[in-house]
Amino acid sequence: MAEWSIAHAWKACVVKSNREFESLSLRHYTWYFLIFPIFMAFPDYLYEKIRKILFSEISFAENFPSHNSLQEKWLYSIWSHQRIRRNALHTLAGDSLAILHPGFHSLEAGPDFRNALIRMGNNPPQQCDIEIDLEPSGWKQHSHEGNPAYQNVGLQVIWNLPEHFIPPTDRPILHLKEFLDAPQKELLEWCLSDDAQSIPESLMGKCCEFFSCLSESDLDRLFKQAALVRLKSKALEIAAAARSFGWEQALYIHLLKGLGYKQNSWPMQRLAEVFPPNSFSLLEMQALLLGVADMIPKKLSNKDDSRNQYVLELWNIWWHHQASLTESILPESIWKLSSTRPVNHPQRRIALAAHWLTNPHFIEDLESWAVLNCTIKDAQSSLFDLLKPKQGDPFWEHHFTLRSKRFEKPLPLIGEERVSDLFVNVVAPWFWARTDRVHDPLASERILERYQNWPASGKNARIELALKRFYGATPAPKLKYAYQQQAILQITSDFCAKTDPCCHHCPLPESLRQCLHPAD
Ligand code: SF4
Repeated sequence: MAEWSIAHAWKACVVKSNREFESLSLRHYTWYFLIFPIFMAFPDYLYEKIRKILFSEISFAENFPSHNSLQEKWLYSIWSHQRIRRNALHTLAGDSLAILHPGFHSLEAGPDFRNALIRMGNNPPQQCDIEIDLEPSGWKQHSHEGNPAYQNVGLQVIWNLPEHFIPPTDRPILHLKEFLDAPQKELLEWCLSDDAQSIPESLMGKCCEFFSCLSESDLDRLFKQAALVRLKSKALEIAAAARSFGWEQALYIHLLKGLGYKQNSWPMQRLAEVFPPNSFSLLEMQALLLGVADMIPKKLSNKDDSRNQYVLELWNIWWHHQASLTESILPESIWKLSSTRPVNHPQRRIALAAHWLTNPHFIEDLESWAVLNCTIKDAQSSLFDLLKPKQGDPFWEHHFTLRSKRFEKPLPLIGEERVSDLFVNVVAPWFWARTDRVHDPLASERILERYQNWPASGKNARIELALKRFYGATPAPKLKYAYQQQAILQITSDFCAKTDPCCHHCPLPESLRQCLHPAD
């Protein structure tokens, strides 16, 4: 028993919480294993005993803290692998329930699982999102009620059911614990296993068996064709804007749209529609844009600092123009700020846009850049130089918003990743649209070559999910180039987004099969 006491003593000293236990255990058990043989012979069943400690420490406690992400992670595994008695399901209101597809786990803000397929009672199958909460009260506590991002939630899945709980009428609820397909302890062991971390079968698309069989060159051809479709459709969108606003303003409109990310693309685009490139000073342009965006604070901060000074400068300009621009002022509520990182706050994006709009050489420099004969690395860094503020920005490089405290170390207003995104989504399509318009195949060729050699951007949750669906457990190809990422986005929007999560009627698998086995 000596070794067993050592393990317990060690555990009592070192482990302060379950979460800490998870992060420390491997290191400390390794240490334990290493020094143990110095004192005594290696005991029988030690590994099993140590493992038992793990399972006695971590359990599906009835009332674990509601923000315990570790346990929520287990619930996600149980749900995505459907470790439930699927034939016996019913909601708290008593309706029978069939899960035809559990949906796709989302890492973005909003419901936990997107695009599930369920059938309630005798109703036809319903495509909806699933929200997983530890308690039914999570729905109100996490402000899902009335939040448009949750309006497509068709089922709330909960773990704990409070006593005497009366099911609400606004959403069906499934009490997961009631329908587990194994005792909780067994399921807990499974949650910590490799199987629980593996890709659930439901995630794999019907194209999965074909993608992994395509040769490298066929896959590259497929990706290049899909990426070209995406480039051309973006070019068409820009050409349409150019018809109303002219080529230069169309470029700014789409650049600002790109700066707005997904959440604020519309208001950013609107600002560029209101203000064509002009000869205002930088401060004037920032005041006008922030004024029309309804973002200049009406009150000064209590502290007499650089924030107040800059806000006063903005007001001194804005009040002269406010009356004439009343009709263009955007409602404050249009801005979505909840899932925006401070460094990407729309106020900083607007400040950056003002630099572009007031740079008289902006378009000219961009045109010279497009014909520059240089390596892709140089093209990347020269585009970055072109899009970053020429003379810096003393206020915005040190503030996240007009109300936030100053930080000492300057933070750039744009990063390399955003520059890459703007290149593939705006700059390349803009040049493509213009060269296509004047039938200049050489220029089109040049921009296409740059597009196809542009390095891939950072991780993207949509692309990661698509790769899991296309490749399942087979290792997916490493995406070196941006066009490959664009191709995957195009395939998901052309096929995955147009069918249900079970891939019904998706023509891609059959087309790929014919490519691979033309004689069949
Ligand atoms: S919808 Fe089509 S492209 Fe998407 S995963 Fe299913 S089979 Fe593949």
